[in-house]
Amino acid sequence: MIYADNAATTAMSEAAINTMTTLIKETYGNPSSLYAFGQKAKEVLEQAREDIAGLIGADPKEIIFTSGGSEADNQAIISAAKLGALKGKKHIVSTAFEHHAVLHTLNKLAKEGFEITLLDVHENGIIKPEEVAAAIREDTALVTVMYANNEIGTIQDIKAIGAVCREKGVLFHTDAVQAIGHLHIDVNEQNIDMLSASAHKFHGPKGVGFLYAKKGIRLTNLIEGGAQEKGRRAGTENVPGIAAMATALKEAVGAIDKNAEHLIPIRNKVIAGLNEIPHSALNGDETSRLPSNINFCFEGIEGESLLLLLDDKGIAASSGSACTSGSLDPSHVLLAIGRVHDVAHGSLRLSLGEDTTDEDADYIVNAVKEVVEYLRGFSPVWRDLVAGKTKFIL
Ligand SMILES: *Cc1c(COP(=O)(O)O)cnc(C)c1O
Repeated sequence: MIYADNAATTAMSEAAINTMTTLIKETYGNPSSLYAFGQKAKEVLEQAREDIAGLIGADPKEIIFTSGGSEADNQAIISAAKLGALKGKKHIVSTAFEHHAVLHTLNKLAKEGFEITLLDVHENGIIKPEEVAAAIREDTALVTVMYANNEIGTIQDIKAIGAVCREKGVLFHTDAVQAIGHLHIDVNEQNIDMLSASAHKFHGPKGVGFLYAKKGIRLTNLIEGGAQEKGRRAGTENVPGIAAMATALKEAVGAIDKNAEHLIPIRNKVIAGLNEIPHSALNGDETSRLPSNINFCFEGIEGESLLLLLDDKGIAASSGSACTSGSLDPSHVLLAIGRVHDVAHGSLRLSLGEDTTDEDADYIVNAVKEVVEYLRGFSPVWRDLVAGKTKFIL
């Protein structure tokens, strides 16, 4: 089987599994307990915090452990909104193709009287720092822009966007769930005030992540209870999961350059191969994209059928994001880059893993070519296009 859905989740690394299972067996004390057995767990927890902070150029005090990327996004945005509201600032700048953890939180705030500006992501899926600057107002409380898009893999110029926010004195949050462990991140060098991360996107366990929040930013507690995480997130810490996240991140960050070197030629080979399919198009910028990401639209077919037939050929891929597949709405990301509904429905995302080989690339290209041709063979939409009754878009 070729697992090409690493943007949905990744397999845990051996080292992360080892860390986790060892701790589950041996270090099950509660980090809040005062006896030595609890304090051992506390030490593991604080070591993980220090390790993770070091990997992104942060201070350990600036790392808050969460249940994953969604919670970190929620907490960052709600905290910034609360802080803004205290000063009468109720405007937030974001983009049209954020993850739903961001967009749905912004929708909630809109109902509470916040005004949201969603920036255009253009045809290539890249926003312009000068457009961020132009969107910032006197009453802007927050700019939140994702580091790398989970569907089309496009990478933003985070440092430049952060610089714009610094200059205007506005808080800047980035959902870096798809970027961390895959691209080099330094929160200070890149002018990042808040950053969300999730372990299961870089070979750590599911259900654990973290929020980086620069010193001095008062976070709103989403979960009431005990005084864990300095009162910023109640609940007994997931010590094995957090430590396994630190193990996975250390490994991933150490291998960023090697992985990119391995993946980029394979990614480009698949892109070149799929480009040979008539009436198809790559979604998102060709170069400013994650080394693992390939996303195409094929005219005249349904993404879901494509996925099922690829599954029969042993390829696990995705069409749109996991959250939107199963619903009839096409991906909001593809609509945001200007794909029309019909075209957006025929999309395919392949997110490669570090273990994807050159032979896998050949197999994928051939399989997709075969399946697309087969599906077009009995697609009424395709028949109309070929007969000239409707116009090709791609
Ligand atoms: C996966 C993902 C999330 C959600 O992370 P969870 O840990 O699954 O809650 C948020 N943002 C992006 C960009 C993602 O890819």
